Amino acid sequence: MKHARRLTAGTLAAGALALTLAVTGCAQSVDPIERLGRKATADVTDGQDGRGGKNGNDGGGPKAARPHASPSPSAPRPGAHKAWGLDRPLEFAPKPAGRPALPAAAPGRVPVVDRIPVPAGEKTVFLTFDDGAERDPQFLKMAADLRLPISMFLTHSVAGPGYDHFGRLRDLGTGSAIQNHSLTHPNLRTLPYAAQKAEICGQQEQLQKRFGERPRLLRPPFGNYNDDTLRAAKDCGLSSVVLWRASMQINDLRYAEGDALRPGDIVLAHFRGPSELKGATLTEMTTRMLRRIQEQGYRIGVLEDYL
Ligand SMILES: [Zn+2]
Repeated sequence: MKHARRLTAGTLAAGALALTLAVTGCAQSVDPIERLGRKATADVTDGQDGRGGKNGNDGGGPKAARPHASPSPSAPRPGAHKAWGLDRPLEFAPKPAGRPALPAAAPGRVPVVDRIPVPAGEKTVFLTFDDGAERDPQFLKMAADLRLPISMFLTHSVAGPGYDHFGRLRDLGTGSAIQNHSLTHPNLRTLPYAAQKAEICGQQEQLQKRFGERPRLLRPPFGNYNDDTLRAAKDCGLSSVVLWRASMQINDLRYAEGDALRPGDIVLAHFRGPSELKGATLTEMTTRMLRRIQEQGYRIGVLEDYL
């Protein structure tokens, strides 16, 4: 039975996204590749790279068709939540009537988003998983059973050998999508424009070659970016740079501010396995994350329906 996809009427709050510093880029990573550049995010502050306008759309319309446009998540298999350690079924946000207005980007740049301006009162958050080191078949089963929509930000040098796995995850029909996390996971802030463009456009090419479509969203490694990143992303045909407001550690969520989720928060997790999670599996970590989301009364949305 299909999950009811009530269309949301009404206007979307067009408030500017608070582009304050999210938690440290690829925060608390125990993955060696993530240790390389865990600095400089402190420089990514409101007013420097954040575009504070509130009018208009993203100014950088999608350049590519999406042959795998995300379907709405349908209802999970009855009882699936119990099998995966949840007390009750997950709730999913209805597909929005339209895309919310984002802060306007400067000419030739993409906007930066770390929280979606969902309509007032809608307690929706979004799941994103980065890198692509862990390819746990059990996670495929979990995502299928629970109908999880996941935005996968893949790095070619990490995820490349496992693209088949991520293709299967995308093709579960749960609303998951593959997005750009660079070719080799550098700290883009340390690179000149041309090198940044090579990292970003290069991964666009790789992902198009493998999956038949060009991503629309970029997550810069470690969350580190500068004006050249926003320009390169635009020049590579992307529509937004996507950061996060909460990040999943091994046991708990860490928040960019405060001690709770807020409506529209983009949640960061990583494809990690027991060697990086102190023995926990990716599915166990995900169960903990989903419990935290449920405990706070949130439902899950499809990020690509909003961006
Ligand atoms: Zn990463």
